[in-house]
Amino acid sequence: MKAVVVRRTGPASEALVLETLPDPTPAPDEVVIAVAACGVCFHDVVTRAGTLKAGVELPFIPGHEVAGEIVALGSGVREFRVGERVATTQRSHVCGGCRYCRTAREPLCTEAVFLGDKGLNGGYAEYLRADAGVIARVPDGVSFEHAAIAACAIGTGFHAIGEIARLRLGETALITGAGGGLGVHAVQLAVLAGAFVIAQTTSPGKVDAIRRAGAHEVVLARRGEDFSSQVRAKSSGGVDVVIDNVGSSQFQPTRKSLAPGGRWVMVGQLSGEFTPFNPAQLFLRSISLLSATSTTRRELEETLRLIARGAVRPVVDRVAPLRAVAEAHAALERGGVTGRIVISPRLDDTATPN
Ligand SMILES: [Zn+2]
Ligand SMILES: [Zn+2]
Repeated sequence: MKAVVVRRTGPASEALVLETLPDPTPAPDEVVIAVAACGVCFHDVVTRAGTLKAGVELPFIPGHEVAGEIVALGSGVREFRVGERVATTQRSHVCGGCRYCRTAREPLCTEAVFLGDKGLNGGYAEYLRADAGVIARVPDGVSFEHAAIAACAIGTGFHAIGEIARLRLGETALITGAGGGLGVHAVQLAVLAGAFVIAQTTSPGKVDAIRRAGAHEVVLARRGEDFSSQVRAKSSGGVDVVIDNVGSSQFQPTRKSLAPGGRWVMVGQLSGEFTPFNPAQLFLRSISLLSATSTTRRELEETLRLIARGAVRPVVDRVAPLRAVAEAHAALERGGVTGRIVISPRLDDTATPN
C-alpha cells in the first residue's frame, strides 16, 4: 500500500514521505479498513514536528480521523461485514475491560492506542487496522469526508460541550479559535445546545464561515490582543462556559472572559509554552478548570447521527491526495484552514496492487 511515513520528525516537506509498504492483515479482533478519507488534525502537525513527545514512537504513519470501507475481518469479528462503511474513533485499540472501558470513558483506558502516533498504522495510508470495538458504522447519506472528521473535529466538541461543560439552554458560551476544525463545529454544537454563542478568531478570513456556523457574535482579535473586554461587553459581564481550542497563548484574555462560576474546558494547545497563573484568580471567582480529550465510541455514533440528520454540517476546507499532505500541514501551521482539510488516497492516481 501507499502510505505517508514519518521516520524522522521535522518540517512537513522533509518529514512526510510517501512510501510503499506491505498491506496490513487483521488480528482476530480487528478489521482492515480501505481508507477513503482522513482528516488532517493539528495533533498530526505537532507529532510530525517532534514537539509532542508523549506517546509518539518512530517511525509512524500519522492520521487518526479515518473513514472507509471494511476490506478484511479478523476471525473473531461478528459485528461487521466486509464492504461496510465505517469511521474510527481516535484510537485503534482499547482493552474493553478496565474501569474506564466499563464506564464508557474508554479514551482514558491505560491500554488505549492513539491511531497514528506509533508504528506503521495510521490514516495517511491506503489501509489501516483497528479493533472492531472502536469503530462505528457510517449512516447512509453521510460522505466519507464528513464521517472522517466526525470523531475528532466534531466529536471532541460534542464530548466537551455535552459531557464535560454540560452547557445548558440559555447559557452563554465562548468558543476560542472558532475558525479551526474543532472551533467551527463547537460553534454549531453550542448553538444546538441552546446557548448564546460568542466566537473568537484571529483570522478575518474565517469570520464568514463562523457566522454561517451560527455564532451570535464574532470577536476578531489580533494574536496577543486582550479580547476579554469585547467578550464581557457582548455577554453582560462574562460567559458561563469557554470551549478553549487555543491554550496558553490566550490564557489571560480567556480567563478574564469568564463570568464568576464559569466553566473553562481546555481542548486545545496550539503552542507548546507554559503559562503562569495565580490560583486565586480562579478560586476567588469560583472558576472551574476542566478538560476534554478524545471521543468515546458512543459519542462518535451520536455525532454521526447528528450529521445524518443535518443538525451539524461538517466544514471541509478541501479534499487533497496523500501526496499533497505536506502542503496541508503547512496550511495548518499558517492558520489558513477553515474547518478541516481531508486527504483521500483515492485521489492519488497510481493504484498499487499490494
Ligand atoms: Zn484529530
Ligand atoms: Zn480499558
